[in-house]
Amino acid sequence: MGEPELQAVQRVLSSGFLTNGPETAAFEEEFARVHAVPYAVAMANGTVALTAMLLAHGIGPGDEVIVPSFTFLSTATAVVHAGARPVFAEVHADILNIDADHVAALITARTKAVIAVHYAGQAADMAELRALTDRAGILLLEDAAEAHGASYRGRPVGGLADGAMFSFTPTKNITMGEGGMVTTHDPDYARRLRQLRNHGVADDGTPRTSIGYNWRMTEMQAAIGRVQVTRLSAIIERKQANAEFLAAHLRDADVLFPPNRPDRTATYMMLTLRSSTRRDAIVQGLRDRGIEARVYFPPAHLDAVFAADNVTLPRTEEVANTVFSIPCHAELTEDDLALIAKEITALAPRDAT
Ligand SMILES: *Cc1c(COP(=O)(O)O)cnc(C)c1O
Repeated sequence: MGEPELQAVQRVLSSGFLTNGPETAAFEEEFARVHAVPYAVAMANGTVALTAMLLAHGIGPGDEVIVPSFTFLSTATAVVHAGARPVFAEVHADILNIDADHVAALITARTKAVIAVHYAGQAADMAELRALTDRAGILLLEDAAEAHGASYRGRPVGGLADGAMFSFTPTKNITMGEGGMVTTHDPDYARRLRQLRNHGVADDGTPRTSIGYNWRMTEMQAAIGRVQVTRLSAIIERKQANAEFLAAHLRDADVLFPPNRPDRTATYMMLTLRSSTRRDAIVQGLRDRGIEARVYFPPAHLDAVFAADNVTLPRTEEVANTVFSIPCHAELTEDDLALIAKEITALAPRDAT
């Protein structure tokens, strides 16, 4: 955060509007433009954005929604918040995105939607998923919480399916502390989202026909978001350059680097590597040297809140036991990056296995 964000908040504090006002409307318009969609609806955070994305499509009790297990837990808990049941799918072991072949095997008469998570900022296999959801007559939704500004076959995420959501929590590429957004091409869907956000009342004042929630974004959040959106492409470029540098300097390390599919641009919200034999030693070793390494994500199907379903996903469990994420953020210097690569190479030299 810098001076422009400070000034933006100051502007709001003296404006007379603290929530659901002109900053929110402007942020929605600017965010929509970046993602090449006509409508964006700001929400209080990413998790309620996910729930709203489902509810505005009428998803609820008795419905199943297919989600990857290898994701932040709220992709699945939002399905429960909507009253439906999450059904967990495998991911590809390399790009860590939902596996369309496994999705096809999980579709039942109760399946209403598939949520494709664009893991760490690389788009999921949208063409394969679209083909099979069209065949089944079900919805395809994007969890783009980690993928602001990413693209697939030349088109930005957020407009690739029947609805998409984003998060602005501090781990994401742009942030306002908390915040969320749902994007769409459909004006009626956008209107239902606005009703859900504001106690059932549409922005044009149409009387309420159903209950809603208070999922509004504050004007302070929106004003910061407007500045952050102008920083997005520079942040992404830096992170892409960091990832490229690390890939080149990890050539002698016995770790798997996430491949970049040629038809999509990844934005590296995280940089997730894999080590099949030495993950824990690498993570501990990096932490001992003051380098922040973390293990994301514990599989949702094994979380205490879903474990009673007794789902087994061998590939996801193998992935979860071998992944670790390393620093890749836009403020790292070339010395930082070289040090990270050197330490990983020392902890896991290629010739030692
Ligand atoms: C961050 C994240 C969310 C949740 O967003 P919040 O704003 O933290 O509620 C949902 N899905 C994925 C994949 C995420 O990474």
